[in-house]
Amino acid sequence: YQGKRGTARIVVYEEHKAPLGSSGLILQGELRHAIDQDELALYYQPQIELVTGAIYGVEALVRWQHPTRGLIPPGDFVPTAELSGLIEPLTAWVLRRALADQREWSDLGVNWRVSVNVSARNLSSAAFAAQVLDIIAAAGANPRDLCLEVTETALTTNPEAASASVTALSNAGVAISIDDFGTGYTSLWQVRSLPVDEVKIDRTFVKDVSTSEADRSIVQAIIGLSHGLGCTVTAEGVESAAAALWLKVAGCDSAQGYHYARPKPWQELLSEHHGPVDAGGTTPQDSTEVL
Ligand code: C2E
Ligand code: MG
Ligand code: MG
Ligand code: MG
Repeated sequence: YQGKRGTARIVVYEEHKAPLGSSGLILQGELRHAIDQDELALYYQPQIELVTGAIYGVEALVRWQHPTRGLIPPGDFVPTAELSGLIEPLTAWVLRRALADQREWSDLGVNWRVSVNVSARNLSSAAFAAQVLDIIAAAGANPRDLCLEVTETALTTNPEAASASVTALSNAGVAISIDDFGTGYTSLWQVRSLPVDEVKIDRTFVKDVSTSEADRSIVQAIIGLSHGLGCTVTAEGVESAAAALWLKVAGCDSAQGYHYARPKPWQELLSEHHGPVDAGGTTPQDSTEVL
């Protein structure tokens, strides 16, 4: 047994720097194996509607349950997947699993939209939108119950291809969210010209919002701008009750962060906010209260 996570991180990090080196090939092989053998897992973090305090959706966040290294966070292997061409099977795996999980919780009477993160490389592929729609159809899901989170970088790396993917998916009913907003180089023109439903304010602006005058100005401006363009606004990285309250008063629509819950398997989330999942035939309430 050599499951010390610190060691694993160093190995993986070196592979980012040398994706074509021999250790990189080993990791790529391992990652391919992990995707094929279902060694990946999805954790879910709730998204809270600030006015009601109810969970309206969850964000799927991938983890790698490595047999010896333990739980590996996405920052340690998603970049490698992006460099090695494994991001397409990885994203497909995440979409299939997220929609299968959503089927399970909706069978229990729970209406949570599911958000999935997609990479620049996904959006650059001309086949991406059709692949997503095929996965939705195969899962028997409704496109309106899915949201795709795209970063500003993903929209600007290959703008024409990204715009085509996003437009096709939006036309089919999939919600589009701009993740980590404020950290990239999206121009207002791009936000206006793309079918964006939601803007997620990056947590660097959110974490000190209850105390920092500068952060308040930025967050207030993003809320005003997003609403003016017809988008809803989610704050990510809400870690305190004070931040949650400030955001609610400032008119932010929804929030996500450790203040509400850390990412966890959906069954745990459901049992903490909804009563036990295996309660045996009891129907959960319509909305899930958190506050
Ligand atoms: P993200 O999409 O911006 O996800 C939010 C990250 O912030 C998550 O980290 C989450 O655990 C963390 N977080 C949530 N609330 C708080 C908080 O209150 N405080 C702090 N400090 N952090 C908070 P995680 O799960 O490690 O994911 C990191 C990034 O990895 C994600 O950032 C996303 O860009 C990427 N990622 C995760 N899952 C996937 C996936 O399935 N596909 C792709 N392509 N990327 C993914
Ligand atoms: Mg995200
Ligand atoms: Mg984010
Ligand atoms: Mg972020």
